[in-house]
Amino acid sequence: MDIVSATRRIDSEWTGSIVPCLESYIRVPNKSPLFDPEWQAHGHMDRAAAVLVEWCRSQQITGLTVEVIRLPGRTPLLFAEVPGTAPGEVLLYGHFDKQPEFTGWDAGLDPWTPVIRDGRLYGRGGADDGYAVFSSLLAIRTLEEQRLPHARCAILIEGSEESGSPDLPAYVEHLGSRLGTPDLVICLDAECGNYDQCWLTTSLRGNLIGTLSVDVLTEGVHSGMATGIAASPFRILRGLLDRIENVHTGDVALEELHVVTPPGRIAEARAAAAVLGGTVAGKIPFVPTARPVSNDPTELLLNSTWKPTLTVTGADGLPALGSAGNVLLPRVALKLSLRLPPTLDATAAAARVTAALERQPPYGARVRFEVGSSLAGWDAPPLAPWLERAVQSASQDFFGRPALAMGTGGSIPFIGMLAERYPGTQFLVTGVLGPNSNAHGPNEFLHLAAVRKVTGCVAAVLAAHANRGG
Ligand SMILES: [Zn+2]
Repeated sequence: MDIVSATRRIDSEWTGSIVPCLESYIRVPNKSPLFDPEWQAHGHMDRAAAVLVEWCRSQQITGLTVEVIRLPGRTPLLFAEVPGTAPGEVLLYGHFDKQPEFTGWDAGLDPWTPVIRDGRLYGRGGADDGYAVFSSLLAIRTLEEQRLPHARCAILIEGSEESGSPDLPAYVEHLGSRLGTPDLVICLDAECGNYDQCWLTTSLRGNLIGTLSVDVLTEGVHSGMATGIAASPFRILRGLLDRIENVHTGDVALEELHVVTPPGRIAEARAAAAVLGGTVAGKIPFVPTARPVSNDPTELLLNSTWKPTLTVTGADGLPALGSAGNVLLPRVALKLSLRLPPTLDATAAAARVTAALERQPPYGARVRFEVGSSLAGWDAPPLAPWLERAVQSASQDFFGRPALAMGTGGSIPFIGMLAERYPGTQFLVTGVLGPNSNAHGPNEFLHLAAVRKVTGCVAAVLAAHANRGG
């Protein structure tokens, strides 16, 4: 592959046609169904798909077909196919649904207005994960223009990822043989430790979400009259949470939710921590006095990729501060989000957490833990030697630095699904969700220099895949 001309080609396409298109895409508030139950009536999903499809269809790639598939009642799915000029099959994955707005965007920025500042394209959904379809097709096009062979490519861009991919299994079923039997899956929806080299994601944590509710009274009562007689539901909740998490250390208290971290993954975390150092914690927006739970970057990386963790993400039954009177509340409910180690059985974890929370309710209160979803994580199979070599040389060629690997604390449901379906498949899971890019939070941005280099790396890996032999 001619790196110089590939770089030039990729850069000019990003600047000339992709950025303007991504700007249109950012303007569409196509929130994932979980955050916009009326998504069908609102029509944003269809509009976002239309923006992407128009660009895809204009690509000069031999035999390219692009379609939007709509199964009844499900978010649309963008599916593209490119016939192979070499043996093998590749599946490229991304998603085009978005997280909700969230608060705290800086002055001059907001989720639905694209703004370019300091080489970063701000706005919701650009980095997570609008860019994926552009990088995928541009990588293939780059090969075609250099007359380099590539395997058959199927590109699947789903519309329900941010809701836990509820629509995806039906589409995988529907597409059947059109998905092929990929020997390589490329997923462009992952993190990167920095914007200076290619990052391979080698594991994902699972995710268990549920609502823990405590009912003590049938209605709120004057707190002067009732406290001391009835327990507060908030105090009961505190005690229940102590059953599953050590309040002093943050360690998940249920032994069954831990796994032994494979030695190879510990070594990867050490290598990544040596490069990232203070930025592992530095990427987190602490208030000036707050500090991370450890000063050791390796420990922080392993904590956030291989350890179970708990966080409370929402509450019901707690009045907002301005309208909080002296009332003993009748009921409080919390949304719990647990991240699970990559290799843990998520269904068993859900049952274990439910049992721990619901057994022997204090004061006979009505305690319920309703599981919303439990998704398993993923631990990558060992990298095939050809892929290892390809990723290293691609990172050197486009970034000028070696590639690194690390686990990711988040979840991509599709990867686990595919790994189960195609046990022999190799995975290239990478992305541009690096320091401060803040997918899901305020000030989400796409790092424009890094995304162009990642696009180059995808092209290089596709080229190497076509030449992998045996
Ligand atoms: Zn994503």
